[in-house]
Amino acid sequence: MNKHFLFLGLVCLFSLSLLSCATGRNSMGKKIKNGPKHVVLVGFDGLSAHAVKSDKAKMPVFKKLLERGAGTLENRSVLPSSSAVNWASMFMGAGPELHGYTEWGSARPDLPPRVLTDNGMFPDIYYLLRKARPEAELGFFYEWGGMRRLVDTLSVSRLEPLALSAGNTEQAVAGVTAYIREKKPLFCSVIFGEPDGVGHGIGWESPEYFAMLAHLDRALGRIVQAVDDAGMTDETVFILAADHGGIRKGHGGKTMEEMQTAIVFSGKGVKAGYRIPESTMVFDIAGTVAWLFGLEAPQVWLARPIKSAFED
Ligand SMILES: [Zn+2]
Repeated sequence: MNKHFLFLGLVCLFSLSLLSCATGRNSMGKKIKNGPKHVVLVGFDGLSAHAVKSDKAKMPVFKKLLERGAGTLENRSVLPSSSAVNWASMFMGAGPELHGYTEWGSARPDLPPRVLTDNGMFPDIYYLLRKARPEAELGFFYEWGGMRRLVDTLSVSRLEPLALSAGNTEQAVAGVTAYIREKKPLFCSVIFGEPDGVGHGIGWESPEYFAMLAHLDRALGRIVQAVDDAGMTDETVFILAADHGGIRKGHGGKTMEEMQTAIVFSGKGVKAGYRIPESTMVFDIAGTVAWLFGLEAPQVWLARPIKSAFED
C-alpha cells in the first residue's frame, strides 16, 4: 500500500514539474534599461529580402529606416514559407511544431498547441502584454481576413481591417493613423496583405509588384507621420517585417527568395546604421517585443530577443 502511494506521489511530482516546465518562463537574459513606451510593427505579406535589395524597389521610407536604424536582410521564415504559419510564428514566438499553425491558410492549429493560455490559445505577444499591463492600448490592423485567427484577439483593444488595395494610400491607412494619434497605443501591428496579392496575380518582382512596394511605402510614411503627430517619436520603436518572400507567382517552397525577409528596427535606443550580424528567425520578433517591454517570455517560446540592434 505504502509503495503504491509512494509511486503515485512520484508520478504526481513528475507531472507537476513537467507542467511547470511547459508553462514556466524562458530566460530573456539581461533586461533592457530604458525601453520604449511604444512599439509599432508594420508587416508586409510577401515582401522578400531579394526585392528590398533591388534598385527597382522605390521604398524611400523603408530604406531610410533600414539605413538609419538596425536591420538584417537575412531573416528566415519558418517552413513552409507560407503566410499563416509565419504570421503565427511572428506573434507566438515559436514555430509550427509548437503553436500548431502549419499551413498557408491555417485558421486554427492543425496540431495541438504545446501550451494553451486561459484564453484557449498558444501564448502570443498580445496575451503577454495584456496580462502584464491590463490597461494597455493594444492595436491590431490587418488586411487579409485570415490574420484574425493568428493572434489572441481577446487581448487586443482595437481590431480593425484595412484595405490597402481598395483605395488610395491615405484612405487605406486612415483608420490606423487616426487610432495612433488618438490612442497612442503601447503596441500596434499593421499587417498589409500586399505585395503578396500582386505577386500571386502577376509575379514577384514584376513591374506591378514594385509599383505596389511604392504604394506600401507611402502607406508606411503615413504611419510614421502619425506617430510623429502623436508626439510619440522619441519613445517609439518601429519594427518592419514580412512573413515570407516569393518567386515567380508563388511561395511556400525552399528557395532563399521565398525564405529570406528583412527585419528593420528604428527609433528609441536602436543602433544607427547597424547590420544585425546574428541569425534571426521570424519568431524572434515576438521575443524582441517582449524584451523591449521588460516581459519574461513563456518557456515554450523559442524566440531570442534581437538585442544587438539596441544600444546597451
Ligand atoms: Zn504571406
